[in-house]
Amino acid sequence: MRPFLLAIILILTFSCTNGPRKAEKTAADSAAAQTARVLVPEFNKDSAYAFVVAQLAFGPRVPESPAHEKCAAYITAKMKSWCKDVIVQKCRMEAYNGKMLEGKNIIASWKPELKNRIILCTHWESRPWADHDPDPKNWRKPVEAANDGASGVGVLMEVARQFSMKEPSIGVDLVLFDLEDYGPPQDSKISDEKWWGLGSQYWAQNPHKQGYSARYGILLDMVGAPGATFMLEGFSQQYAADIQKKVWDDANRIGFSSYFLYEKGGLVTDDHIFMMKYLNIPVVDLIHLDKTTESGFYPYWHTTHDNLASIDANTLKAVGQTMLTVAYEEQ
Ligand SMILES: [Zn+2]
Repeated sequence: MRPFLLAIILILTFSCTNGPRKAEKTAADSAAAQTARVLVPEFNKDSAYAFVVAQLAFGPRVPESPAHEKCAAYITAKMKSWCKDVIVQKCRMEAYNGKMLEGKNIIASWKPELKNRIILCTHWESRPWADHDPDPKNWRKPVEAANDGASGVGVLMEVARQFSMKEPSIGVDLVLFDLEDYGPPQDSKISDEKWWGLGSQYWAQNPHKQGYSARYGILLDMVGAPGATFMLEGFSQQYAADIQKKVWDDANRIGFSSYFLYEKGGLVTDDHIFMMKYLNIPVVDLIHLDKTTESGFYPYWHTTHDNLASIDANTLKAVGQTMLTVAYEEQ
């Protein structure tokens, strides 16, 4: 992902006139949900951390590399061990430089027959270029992507493991996108948003099930850095404000107010904009935003320092426990 540059153009291309559908709940529904609040399992932060370590052991999961192939096989096998409905969606997408990339979106579905469902998603591959590294010599080196890739997957793998022990009452799709971060290097002078989120663009236009829809989605991006700050991303605010508030309220209620800040963040080009644009599903980007850095993201974004040292199991816990709370309490 990257900070959004062409705000006006893209906003106008959203297919919906009133924004995506909003989840409708009456006051009575909410009251019933309060009294029926379920016991949410404990998210195991050490387990999530171990899933991050396992991904990094393959090396940078850059598209078209053996590490990418091996990591896809690893994630798929683990997901299949926890979920009986796993689909690996292959796609072939053109990159900004004309190269054709083979991608794999990995989708694990609980209760696929239910219309009442939500999406939890992230991207799993690594950016090929550390083009925001302080040292220009590193600009063509791959990013290890501990935070910008592996952290979200680590969280959702632990969520899957929890679901395997206790199913949520609603349907849930865990969607792991490929080819999110293959956008042009900053010195290439190409700025079109369409070169980002290639895997999610494919999935949103060719969902794994015909006529697919969901009530809403939550996109995890850079969810593992120590002391991470999740601010209110701009597109999520415009098109999924209710869901964004719900997620932040849940996180604050269960004790993670130091991570989930009710502060406006910038607009971000990320997988959620394509899901909203093509599928008309409101999606919240849960992403580490930081007003003190030049990029607006966490300090090691798209650098060679995005490695295991920038992962804290406590942050994985804050996000993972919030995801479990949302999923299990949803009626
Ligand atoms: Zn990125």
